[in-house]
Amino acid sequence: GQLHGAIYQGGGALVGRSGGHGVRGLPAEAGGLLEALAQGERLDHTQWRTLLEARTPALAAEAAQRAAAVRDRIYGKRVFIRGLIEFTNYCKNDCYYCGIRHGNRATSRYRLTEDEILACCRAGYALGFRTFVLQGGEDPYFTDARLVRLVSAIKREFPSCALTLSVGERPQESYAALRAAGADRYLLRHETANAAHYRRLHPENQRLEDRMACLRALKALGYQTGAGFMVGSPGQTLDCLADDLVFLTAFRPEMVGIGPFLPHHQTPFAGEPAGSVEMTLYLLSLVRLALPAVLLPATTALGTAAGDGRERGVQAGANVVMPNLSPAGVREKYMLYDNKISTGSEAAECLDELRQRMQAIGYTVAVDRGDFAGISEGKV
Ligand code: SAH
Repeated sequence: GQLHGAIYQGGGALVGRSGGHGVRGLPAEAGGLLEALAQGERLDHTQWRTLLEARTPALAAEAAQRAAAVRDRIYGKRVFIRGLIEFTNYCKNDCYYCGIRHGNRATSRYRLTEDEILACCRAGYALGFRTFVLQGGEDPYFTDARLVRLVSAIKREFPSCALTLSVGERPQESYAALRAAGADRYLLRHETANAAHYRRLHPENQRLEDRMACLRALKALGYQTGAGFMVGSPGQTLDCLADDLVFLTAFRPEMVGIGPFLPHHQTPFAGEPAGSVEMTLYLLSLVRLALPAVLLPATTALGTAAGDGRERGVQAGANVVMPNLSPAGVREKYMLYDNKISTGSEAAECLDELRQRMQAIGYTVAVDRGDFAGISEGKV
């Protein structure tokens, strides 16, 4: 608002009340931009790019501290848990980064039955989970009729729980039917907001504009909607990330999933380097500052890339973790990338380990639905 006008004036020119020295010895421009973000200002592409380019350990630490303070103010020192049920690894798509892509003939495919999925929910409920996330590849077996049946069955047995779907792109009528059946939330990462980069990550039949249309439809239907992207995916530049941040601050999703890209040996990106843990943490902080009430997971990919990734994610502003609630026998088959973890604090049945690890950094694991605390937008 008004205060910001005194600190930062359009066009990239820093006016700075502190005579150009910025915040606590940080580069003046980056410090001013962090301050502007904290004041609720929306940054443009150039400004985001400047903040991304200026990343140093000191700037990232400043961003993390501010982000954690914002998160604590809105949600307290509480981390929400979601029980993740990876119910099918069949997929008709061929995303170049993903280990369960259709073209990977070496993966052994599975899909859980409705009874098996309900059994996962029962086990999760007993452990304290009040949100279940059904995630899968784009599996044509799961027609609207089958998914609606499944959603209805889960919501009937667990009316106090939130149900999140993450099953990719579907027609708007399908999203509407699933919402009517009781689904509360939907995760659909936009993957990258840069059209040229999107083409680099997907075959031609997958289009960024379709992805975006799905996200808009989900929001309009009243889902708490999650977008997001990988950090360090092949071809990603700081300009791509600036595009992601511009998109997120315009779309204002209730949830944002961010994790490092990690290669899978049976994909076209097998030989590509993994994304940076530090850059991922920095982006978590920036997204927390830009969208204060966002539900922001410290993702499995972050936990895979660094043993203390969950803790560092929370310290950077995340407030959600999604332990694996899938039957043990299928976990190694839902391999989106090499070495994906599903044990220890990553496993729903080891919730005590997660509790201890969160307690060690001053946080408690919350047992409630953990809904979005801000004002949802985009409802029609
Ligand atoms: N089919 C669903 C679920 C996809 S898997 C959908 O399309 O939404 C969930 C997320 O895992 C993807 O959105 C992607 O961002 C991430 N992912 C896939 N492969 C990955 C990899 N190799 N490294 C890191 N993250 C990956």
